[in-house]
Amino acid sequence: PARTRFAPSPTGYLHLGSLRTALFNYLLAKRTGGQFLLRIEDTDQKRTIPDAEQRLFRDLRWAGLQWDEGPEVGGPYGPYKQSERSKLYQEHAQKLLDSGHGYRCFCSTARLNGLAESRHRLGLATDYDRTCASIPKEESDDRASKGEKHVIRLRVPDAYPQYKDLIYGNFKALKHGRRGEQAFEDPVLLKSDGLPTYHLANVVDDHHMKITHVIRGSEWMPSTPKHIAMYQAFGWTPPQFAHVGLLVDEQGNKLSKRNFDTDISAFREMEIFPETLTNFAALLGWSHHETSDVMDLAKLIENFTLKFTKGNTTVTFGKLHFLQRRHGALRARAGGKGLNEIIKAVSRLLQDVEGPYKDWRTLLGDRSLDEYIKQIIQSDSDNYTNANEFVYRNAFMFQLIRNPSSLTDAPGKPQHAKRLAEVTDWTKENITKKVWEIIEGVGDGKVWSKDFFHYLRQAITEREEGMRIYDAMVILEREECLKRLGVRSA
Ligand code: GLU
Repeated sequence: PARTRFAPSPTGYLHLGSLRTALFNYLLAKRTGGQFLLRIEDTDQKRTIPDAEQRLFRDLRWAGLQWDEGPEVGGPYGPYKQSERSKLYQEHAQKLLDSGHGYRCFCSTARLNGLAESRHRLGLATDYDRTCASIPKEESDDRASKGEKHVIRLRVPDAYPQYKDLIYGNFKALKHGRRGEQAFEDPVLLKSDGLPTYHLANVVDDHHMKITHVIRGSEWMPSTPKHIAMYQAFGWTPPQFAHVGLLVDEQGNKLSKRNFDTDISAFREMEIFPETLTNFAALLGWSHHETSDVMDLAKLIENFTLKFTKGNTTVTFGKLHFLQRRHGALRARAGGKGLNEIIKAVSRLLQDVEGPYKDWRTLLGDRSLDEYIKQIIQSDSDNYTNANEFVYRNAFMFQLIRNPSSLTDAPGKPQHAKRLAEVTDWTKENITKKVWEIIEGVGDGKVWSKDFFHYLRQAITEREEGMRIYDAMVILEREECLKRLGVRSA
């Protein structure tokens, strides 16, 4: 069983990319009967946004990604928030000092900035030059005990560590830059205020929380050799790493605000179903062997493997809308909670809007609004996307239609359609029978029947397309249909 984690920094909200990372970790844990952890990496207090944490919790739960261990639920390896674990990181930095894998660096910020500038001018990687790496231990202890400001750095080994990425295979960091200089600096682990950097906290926590697999964005790949070096320095076995590519738009650019790089609540406000969004996010860079791409969370768990494509993944939003319609249809057919949510959204909208859609009260008959909406959804189940589009598409169910102007050039057809008044028991079967009786009575075959259906659709729905006309007629009931066909006066 895999133990995985999602380790967001509360410096922003949950976006499509981070939801995908969380999802892959969740799926692997669930697929293998393991645990999915949530850990808040708030080591960068300056950049922390006050409500980010609460929004992360809410958005993850909305998407169905409930964590087994973490904030609000607890667990055996807590606390799950890095700002509450400072002591552990300090102890571990000290361990590295003691074993010689770490050293104190007393360089001032001014010196480091100057160094970075001049190395940059020379075209060298702007890395630390290791000045403090050779300070003897006694001197270092002495300066520290006198209160001299310092950080603790990792002494990166000369044989720079390799690791085997589950997606990218052997990943070997370059040991030397273009000009032969050390390509990697000795990373800072503990800052001068005694707080850890991302690198230290991340490695210490993954070890203590017994994480077996780390799935994360490929922007972290260059950091992984540093992390491996730390595992080696501590004498720990590292977890397995799987890096997934970045999300880009169709032009190959990073997603932007205009391109749906928006936080997850924006999808919720668009009434995208959580199962649509997780389905959509899962397909970004992951491949499966199913015949259909349409999968809810349970199905994703069932099919999940670490089969990711290398490189960036292009996000196309047509797919999101396709999946939304498919999941809408599944909800409509399954009934229950999912369908009720849709009904509630539509009914809220209808009760809120004034204007064109106010006539539904007249059209309900003996039905409740919820029942009425349910009938419409189930008759048009392949097309539900959100309440607004649904009401617009099925406007004829919510407003009265009287004498549609487009019907004036329909010679003969209104006369024939009037015979539908002969149907007293207004069932789909009886209406169908009558319609065919009328068509056969006219006797000139295909062309006329096509025209006749067109006429019916226009008169009843004022639309060129939509649900099956017989379904619409049954839902609208007899009296209203006869009014629309001009048999009864309105
Ligand atoms: N806190 C890091 C982030 O926000 C976690 C990276 C990782 O998964 O190691 O992306």
